[in-house]
Amino acid sequence: MELAAMRLANLRAAPRCLAKGRSGKPCQSPATKGKARCRLHGGAVGSGAPHGSRNGAFTNGAWTEEAIRQRRDADRILASARAQLAALRG
Ligand SMILES: [Zn+2]
Repeated sequence: MELAAMRLANLRAAPRCLAKGRSGKPCQSPATKGKARCRLHGGAVGSGAPHGSRNGAFTNGAWTEEAIRQRRDADRILASARAQLAALRG
């Protein structure tokens, strides 16, 4: 297979970007390698919003990276505890 044709085949086989456009439909462009979004929707290196206080008006810290990570960790622990409890109950 010719190189250009092989690249096109790889692009066709790539997972699709699921970012929603203004129409409300998913973007459907090929996602970049190792990412869930395309080059235009956060998949490119350096793309996306700036991190930390350079992005947004923080009012109470509920949506900082650290707070989001803490909630995810707590959810994971809670789900694990629930699964163990369900296993004990049989
Ligand atoms: Zn996209």
